[in-house]
Amino acid sequence: MKVKVQVQIESNNSAEPVIEEIFDLTRDELTPETLGLTLDEAKTLLANLQAKFAESQTIEYVKNHRQCLHCGKTRATKDHHELVFRTLFGKLRLESPRFYTCDCQPQQQKSESPLAACLPDRTAPELKYLQTQWVALMPYGVTVKRLEDILPIDQNVATLHRHVLAAGERVDNELGDEQPMFAHGCIAEWESLPEPDPPLVVGIDGGYVHARDGDNRKAGWFEVIVGKSMTADGDKKCFAFVADYNSKPKRRLYETLCSQGLQMNQTVTFLSDGGDTVRDLQFYMSPFSEHLLDWFHITMRITVIRQMAKGLPKLKWLKGVEDNLERVKWFLWHGNVFMALQVLDDIEGNLECLDDKQTTDKVRKFERTFGEFRTYIERNEGFIVNYRDRYFYGKAISTAFVESAVNQVISKRMVKKQQMRWTKKGAHLLLQVRTRVINDEWRDIFHRWYPKMHSTEKTLQLAA
Ligand SMILES: [Zn+2]
Repeated sequence: MKVKVQVQIESNNSAEPVIEEIFDLTRDELTPETLGLTLDEAKTLLANLQAKFAESQTIEYVKNHRQCLHCGKTRATKDHHELVFRTLFGKLRLESPRFYTCDCQPQQQKSESPLAACLPDRTAPELKYLQTQWVALMPYGVTVKRLEDILPIDQNVATLHRHVLAAGERVDNELGDEQPMFAHGCIAEWESLPEPDPPLVVGIDGGYVHARDGDNRKAGWFEVIVGKSMTADGDKKCFAFVADYNSKPKRRLYETLCSQGLQMNQTVTFLSDGGDTVRDLQFYMSPFSEHLLDWFHITMRITVIRQMAKGLPKLKWLKGVEDNLERVKWFLWHGNVFMALQVLDDIEGNLECLDDKQTTDKVRKFERTFGEFRTYIERNEGFIVNYRDRYFYGKAISTAFVESAVNQVISKRMVKKQQMRWTKKGAHLLLQVRTRVINDEWRDIFHRWYPKMHSTEKTLQLAA
């Protein structure tokens, strides 16, 4: 069997439709593999169809722009160029003639190319959308391969990288100015607001990413802050930024909260591990905010110390360390920092009673970790609350729900087992795209940038 595919093109400018053959295929026997189209055939068919369609579109466009806008005189052709435009269905090589400008008006340029002026960016928005969305979710190499697998296109890592950085920069530039505080209004105003939704819970955490600094292979690490905000209905939005690259952390957080309907009389519960960067970020966001040290991080630290305590020598002075740590946890669970610190002091006192011989490396290591924990509790005293009561009343006590966001946003892609090193700018801009993709906002952002970009959802609905 033979099949020929033709297209019929009806241009607005010509009376006669043009029919052109774009594809043909032959099939012998029917087998599961030969029924219908193969992926390669489909790719060729699409590429050919689009090439023909685009060619007609551009010819028509150029024809319509041949005349002088002012006097209507047909302008003479200066020369021809080939314009390369990349789309989802292949690279288009379009003929782009250059016309002399008409002398009926004073002109700045001697000639101009209407098509080049119409297509200043040489990549189709929809291709950029797919590239940036995929690169945000998987490594460059994999993205290249996947896109080439299903579409009749050649991709390269450098272009993908450039596109994702440009998109990240564009979305970042849309962010308003930074302000020291975002809480606004006064008590009378807040009281006149409608009854607020239940508290927004915001968890903020950090992670570290391998740094790249020119050829310096020992550039170390830098901190990435990741946060997640959750409404009572479970609607989640995440945000991320590089701590000392980005200048607008508060604005970023504020916009995230606003996108979840933050109202100035609504409670916002901030949970974090108490680092300074993270703490500064959450202040002055909303007049009704509460700031808590995350229970999840407290217990994690206690667990580590208890594990270490198990390995300590069984000495008289160290008896009961584990039980005492359990008491510390119990006091902290009830928000009793005073008593927790007293027990911690007791343990510290016992450690000091050991003589030099008993102070092995293990004991010294324990002492150090233990000391850090004590400082951590002391420094964060004001943020330790009665977790038991909150838990009892169903209020948030832990950022465990942020852990998944941290992993989703930075770990897999940027840290774990990846030899990849990042510049602060590169990581920050990729994160901007990545968080929008995870928040399911990326398509809307592209629609805003390119209002004529077709909506997949709509097309699919029509087809269904
Ligand atoms: Zn003219």
